[in-house]
Amino acid sequence: MAPEPACPLSPRVTRWPRPVRYTVGMSPVRDVDHLVVGLGVLGSAAAYRLASEAAGTVVALEQHEPGHAHGSSHGDSRLFRLAHESPADVALARAAYDAWLAVGAEAGEELLVESGVVSFFPLGAAAEADRLAAGLADAGETSERLDGRAVRERWPAFGVPDDVPALFEPRAGVVRADRAVAAFARLAADHGAELVPHAPVRRIAPDGERYLVHTDDATYRAARVVLAAGAWTAALAADLGLDLEVRVTQEQVVYFPQEDPERFAPAVQPGWIRYGAEAFYGFPDLGPTGVKAAQHLGGFDVTADTRTYDPDPANLDRVVAAVRDVLPGVPSGPPRTVSCLYALTSDGEFLVDTVPGHPGVALAIGCGHGFKFAPLLGQALADLAQHGSTGVDVGRFSLVRRGSGGDAE
Ligand SMILES: Cc1cc2nc3c(=O)[nH]c(=O)nc-3n(C[C@H](O)[C@H](O)[C@H](O)COP(=O)(O)OP(=O)(O)OC[C@H]3O[C@@H](n4cnc5c(N)ncnc54)[C@H](O)[C@@H]3O)c2cc1C
Repeated sequence: MAPEPACPLSPRVTRWPRPVRYTVGMSPVRDVDHLVVGLGVLGSAAAYRLASEAAGTVVALEQHEPGHAHGSSHGDSRLFRLAHESPADVALARAAYDAWLAVGAEAGEELLVESGVVSFFPLGAAAEADRLAAGLADAGETSERLDGRAVRERWPAFGVPDDVPALFEPRAGVVRADRAVAAFARLAADHGAELVPHAPVRRIAPDGERYLVHTDDATYRAARVVLAAGAWTAALAADLGLDLEVRVTQEQVVYFPQEDPERFAPAVQPGWIRYGAEAFYGFPDLGPTGVKAAQHLGGFDVTADTRTYDPDPANLDRVVAAVRDVLPGVPSGPPRTVSCLYALTSDGEFLVDTVPGHPGVALAIGCGHGFKFAPLLGQALADLAQHGSTGVDVGRFSLVRRGSGGDAE
């Protein structure tokens, strides 16, 4: 079975260095100050923060090619929303909004498209929409409580029934995912990080106060390590004596190509989430790929080794049915499916912490909704690796949980 083609990366990412290869006469071990494992969105964000702030060398190792489509971070878009159950998550999302603007400004491109997001709730669940709206208001954030009729009046493409409870977040929208990963990587390289593709880390071994990180071509002796390996994290954590339960699911997103991309462009069409026993979400049309939609947690359990790239027809049927309900005018050309991995902790919340007994190793799991927080989670990873603590409010995501929950998207 042929793998899915790599997602197109921004053409400005041209600075991936060749893998470092050691020859006879060179030291078999290379000393580095900071070593990042994994260049998905979290590892790229951490590499960028380390390269901008930390003293010393930063090397980041990625097992695949840049912008590959084998993990969790590929594709053109991720939803960004501010509404969350807990006030701490609302505050974190607001900080992430500012962080995306700052990274976009430094990268010289728009990474967060403020299309707004409308959330639809089941009939009878108006209280849930009210609660989220109140949480946003408490944080000083604007939102609008609407019903289906008001939604249709403003965005006629939506086909929801009159009394569906809805919540509109004007400052929510879409993160341009591929571009964001590329921007973090490019900025990391601009700040002096060495990014090494096709360098799978085979083993991490403590070596006094440092860590030997073995690839096929080289061994690095690192003072600090950031483990941002997504669905591959558990095996590397086990090298450091950490028994980490990471559930991996194979998810699917569906693209509906449109003849007229302006019809559902972000200026006229917000992103959406439909909550219920099964949750679905969708995006405005960002360009050539069309309108995208998916079911949250609509996949099945796999491992990073057993996952396939095969379309899931039952999932496709569910997504097509949901899109026909929410945006009846969307399906036009034959839909295209792309698979993606969720790496999930047991409670669905992020994990951001240092490895017990190894204060120089920080790790993170972004679960099914971590992209929107990537600039902050990257900052937290960089801080934890360097100093053992961080000013980013991620204490509740530690290995010892202070709370749990887990939101969709
Ligand atoms: C279908 C789908 C939809 C989503 N929708 C949203 C959304 O709307 N909003 C949102 O906020 N979030 C969303 N998410 C979640 C978000 O995308 C993830 O939380 C985020 O991408 C996780 O990034 P990561 O860097 O941890 O993992 P990954 O992107 O998987 O990166 C891990 C990297 O580590 C590399 N690696 C692993 N092992 C090794 C090794 N031994 N040596 C070298 N490299 C290694 C991998 O190759 C990979 O590149 C979605 C996820 C999916 C799959």
